[in-house]
Amino acid sequence: MLKTPGYATHGPEAALEPFTFERREPGPTDVLIDILYCGVCHSDIHQARNEWENSEYPMVPGHEIVGRVSQVGNQVTKFSVGDIAGVGCMVDSCRTCENCTSGFEQCCDNHTSFTYNSTEQDETTRTHGGYSTRIVVDERFTLRIPANLPPEGVAPLLCAGVTTYSPLRRWGAGPGKRVGVIGLGGLGHMAVKIAAAMGCEVTVFSTSPSKEKDAKALGAHAFVVSTDAANLEPHANRFHILIDAVSAAHDINPYLELLGREGTLVLVGLPDQPLSVEPFSVISNQRALAGSSIGGIPVTQEMLDFCGEHGIVSDVEVIPIQSINEAYERTIRGDVRYRFVIDASTIG
Ligand code: NAP
Ligand code: ZN
Ligand code: ZN
Repeated sequence: MLKTPGYATHGPEAALEPFTFERREPGPTDVLIDILYCGVCHSDIHQARNEWENSEYPMVPGHEIVGRVSQVGNQVTKFSVGDIAGVGCMVDSCRTCENCTSGFEQCCDNHTSFTYNSTEQDETTRTHGGYSTRIVVDERFTLRIPANLPPEGVAPLLCAGVTTYSPLRRWGAGPGKRVGVIGLGGLGHMAVKIAAAMGCEVTVFSTSPSKEKDAKALGAHAFVVSTDAANLEPHANRFHILIDAVSAAHDINPYLELLGREGTLVLVGLPDQPLSVEPFSVISNQRALAGSSIGGIPVTQEMLDFCGEHGIVSDVEVIPIQSINEAYERTIRGDVRYRFVIDASTIG
């Protein structure tokens, strides 16, 4: 077993603190990755604090992992020692069900092993995430990282990037499509960059007037302060796709009204409260309300290659692990432009 220093939380109200645990020895198809950087996703905060009521402790969060391969099993073909590699929200799945064989491992009919707050395929061994110095992952769940991208900026692509790229692809984002992004946070700012690179006309809906300049610099064509309902009216019935990346409870009905005929609002944000839907908001204009969960391994690799071609990375603030508790508070306050990324060399 590999003794691994990390940071864990021991309960919904506890702070993250140093915690040493064991990783398995790499098997024949595993890679051992020395972690360089790990992004701080709002899902880490939801789970650390048991906001989705499915948390088990101790929990080492982190599912936006980039590192350097330091050992490979004798059957590994995709990676060599020294490669930069990535790990996202999943580390395994049954690999045989229809969803797994179609590249939707996050929808595995049997059991998806999420990177933390989950279990391996034995459904017993707890998984621990990227707020740590190293991780052992089967090469099937390990991603290749384009060589031209800086690793700290790549880390958030492993969750925020794919979670926004995947629905944009699925609902046909491209030239001539008007895309709205609701909530300019970690996911939202990736949605703006990716949709703009796909050739869409992008509008940001934000509760933070101070983000207007950033939104334009990220590639948005328009910026709407969403706290005043009157600002939304001129945009009614215009959008083909809306990506809702808001982390807290909010009213989605005014946004549904912005969809044109057969437009789709895709929920990716995961507030801990139910949302209420006004039937007329969705029935009018043949609208659709959809959801999207991260992305399977094939679309994650496609997203990374797309970002490599377009030079897209996340805008990050690199922090030492010792600042993680403060970073959670700042993320909740919206005081981050636009993703905290942990420098794993500060752990242990
Ligand atoms: P984040 O960086 O904290 O961004 C959330 C944004 O939501 C904020 O920047 C803010 O944008 C807006 N917001 C926050 N509180 C709000 C409120 N009370 N009312 C209205 N707007 C508010 O979070 P993130 O990491 O991007 O994650 C966003 C959500 O997606 C989280 O719930 C996370 O768990 C979820 N998520 C889902 C998936 C999936 O597979 N579907 C994957 C990853 C994350 P403005 O300042 O612009 O208003
Ligand atoms: Zn995430
Ligand atoms: Zn499966």
